[in-house]
Amino acid sequence: MKILKFGGSSVAQPERIEQIVKILKDYYSQGEKFTVVFSAFGGVTDSLIAMSQAAEKGHEEEYLQLFEFFSQRHISTVKALLNESMQKMVLPELLENHQTLKNLLKGIFLVREASRRTMDYVLSFGERNSAYIITHVLQQHGINAHYLDARKVIKTDKNFGSAKVDFKLTYANIKDYYNNNPGVQVVTGFISSAKGGLTTTLGRGGSDYTASLLAAGMDATLIEIWTDVDGVLTADPRKVKKAFTIPSLSFAEAMEMSHFGAKVIYPPTLLPALEKNIALVIKNTFNPDHPGTHISNDIESGNQLIKGISSIGEIALLTLQGSGMFGVPGVSGKLFGALAQGNINVVLITQGSSEHSISFAIKPKDAKRAKKLIDKAFEYEIKSTIIDPVIVEEELSVVAIIGENMRYQPGIAGRLFQALGKNGINCVAIAQGSSELNVSVVINKADETKALVALHEAFFLSDTRVLHIFMVGVGLIGSTLLEQVQKQAKYLVEKQSIEIKVAGLSNSRKMLFNESGIDLGNWKKILMESEESDKAHLPTFIQKMKDMNLSNSIFVDNTASEQVSTFYENILESSISISTPNKIATSSSYLQYERLKTIAKKRGVRFLYETNVGAGLPVITTLNDLINSGDRILKIEGVLSGSLSFIFNSFNDGVNFSKIVREAKDRGFTEPDPRVDLNGIDVRRKLIILARETGLKIDAEDVVIENILPPACQEAESVPDFFEAIEAADDLFEQRRAEAAAQGQVLRMIARLENGEAKINLQAVDNSHPFYSLSGSDNMIVFTTERYKERPLVIRGPGAGAEVTAAGLFAEIITIGNFLN
Ligand code: ADP
Ligand code: ASP
Ligand code: MG
Repeated sequence: MKILKFGGSSVAQPERIEQIVKILKDYYSQGEKFTVVFSAFGGVTDSLIAMSQAAEKGHEEEYLQLFEFFSQRHISTVKALLNESMQKMVLPELLENHQTLKNLLKGIFLVREASRRTMDYVLSFGERNSAYIITHVLQQHGINAHYLDARKVIKTDKNFGSAKVDFKLTYANIKDYYNNNPGVQVVTGFISSAKGGLTTTLGRGGSDYTASLLAAGMDATLIEIWTDVDGVLTADPRKVKKAFTIPSLSFAEAMEMSHFGAKVIYPPTLLPALEKNIALVIKNTFNPDHPGTHISNDIESGNQLIKGISSIGEIALLTLQGSGMFGVPGVSGKLFGALAQGNINVVLITQGSSEHSISFAIKPKDAKRAKKLIDKAFEYEIKSTIIDPVIVEEELSVVAIIGENMRYQPGIAGRLFQALGKNGINCVAIAQGSSELNVSVVINKADETKALVALHEAFFLSDTRVLHIFMVGVGLIGSTLLEQVQKQAKYLVEKQSIEIKVAGLSNSRKMLFNESGIDLGNWKKILMESEESDKAHLPTFIQKMKDMNLSNSIFVDNTASEQVSTFYENILESSISISTPNKIATSSSYLQYERLKTIAKKRGVRFLYETNVGAGLPVITTLNDLINSGDRILKIEGVLSGSLSFIFNSFNDGVNFSKIVREAKDRGFTEPDPRVDLNGIDVRRKLIILARETGLKIDAEDVVIENILPPACQEAESVPDFFEAIEAADDLFEQRRAEAAAQGQVLRMIARLENGEAKINLQAVDNSHPFYSLSGSDNMIVFTTERYKERPLVIRGPGAGAEVTAAGLFAEIITIGNFLN
């Protein structure tokens, strides 16, 4: 004999019931012996609760409306699935049953009270209706089906709402009933009765339990739980999109999963099955060919480190602490005795080895009562101040990793905490069962989904990492980056197992969010057409990014905005990494620079800005690599500005300096006002950043800049005035150039860091110097170090441009991704 159970969603619509009929006809024709348990149609139990509550509150119209809907739903199912003669048989009884429910609700309405006892009776209408209707559907299809109201056989105490089963009596009843009633029994899930016949229920989700009680009562060979997912998945699929089916679980593992929140199996279900060693299979009604999950005692342990991840969304953590606990036996006995007395279930317990405190997690609804009970139990100790009154922390969740293989594997907890830590998730308490079947961590409720996703990635998908990008600024660099990411996406997934999802995007007008990743082939249109309410607003963008709380989040700032940089601190504090070509934060005050780096370190995230110097050229990375590998930096010299590089590289015999400056401006190589470049302000920023990376605590005023422009150029009020003034200075520049040329030298604007001093000046260099051969608008950085003394290390290449800057950012995003995992 097999017991099959179909859940609420499997019978939510007539078409779904037809699907089940197909499955059962198959079994029947193959000569299988089976019993079927049904839940109420999906949503019906909730609506029965809602209608009783409405009646209790005196909301007549509301409860009647809900009742009407209930009645119509069942009648229309009958009409959809049964032929006329069957309908004639079923409908009168059904209507009578509905009338009873209506009277009952009226009673609740009149006395304004729905006791737990009455509620259980009300709830029984859900399962009774569904099983009754489906019995007749099966009969119509030629199956010898009989309706069995489980209240006849499943006997419980009078703990209404979540009754305790009298196993002995129940099993005896089941045996007896089955001995006398051949044929396919169609059984109401969830409901039971107390001695004397009052209706009770087995707790929400209890139809699974009904199935295992029946199985244990008649020593069935197998229990099949048919639901709406492909078995027990590695995590709750509503929270972790990439969760997948666990092929097999031991009873102990399945129990841990269900106790820690995997709704797919109602926790008490497993015990009767385990005691009688009856295997369970969890299968999908909507995908019957999928093998689902097999639960039994003889499963292969496999080589997965863990089997699944579960969470309990809402718990309260209570802590009892005080000097009076140390070395005193009986404290925990008294503590848990008090909880037992209040019938309060404890989810998790942890005690520090100092024995100074005990923390335990319970359902939030019990927190107040638990505190009262414990404070009362320790009244004397609290009065004598050797124990403090219980501390209650709420808004917490528990996440647990589960699996028998943990027992044999070191390093599991390390991986767990690393994944949480890198995502900025704080562990409030930790517990590991001595069976080593689960490690549970109490975290803030707000981090629950993020923790599940991060752990799922760390344990199951360590090969595929998802990076969530939040980007502000989609100008030339930003849009080029998006294009590069889109083009490379397939390669990254296939070869590097990295999936980049752009979860947030903003320009100065609009912003856009999508947790599953914005379509990069179409982002411009989507951004433009996004709602008026999605007007760009930086603080809102950042708040939303934090609220989305996605794992591996990276903020990419492609602006040159000071406002954006003021948010870095806040972003890093939220454990979100930053990658940016924006130089403002790194080159403003040293204190600010240091602070940001410290926060990033403290939060375990990255703050990277390789593109601040030399765009895509690996300047900062190389410098850090040299330092980290023990080299000593003696000197850094650089032509760090593309515009200045172009100007001086083109300044040859017979060309006017002013003409080159004009050409540079016309070709877009300079700022709109070329003085910004010529005055060395931009180069100074870059030099400051390099100096700071070497460990120098340097600020802007510490950099000596040679002023190469004569006063008239500096003082010119407009750009045209400036050009006039610089034409007048052509001779001056030509003189310098000619003097150098006479010595076989050329002029270069060089930033230099040596002996702790930072300087930017126009220098003449001969052909022995790397800068001599510079051409075009290339940047060049020369590191002279202890190791690279004779022949310095040179980095040369284009130091500006959207394509190379975007590529630098792209590489940096991948670097951050690799660090985070
Ligand atoms: P039924 O109505 O069939 O009893 P339930 O809603 O009680 O179905 O349980 C199935 C649901 O449990 C799934 O749809 C899924 O959303 C949820 N669930 C939570 N955790 C898990 C998990 N680890 N594996 C599978 N399903 C899970
Ligand atoms: N119908 C009940 C509920 O919704 C029992 C079940 O579905 O298992 O809780
Ligand atoms: Mg269920």
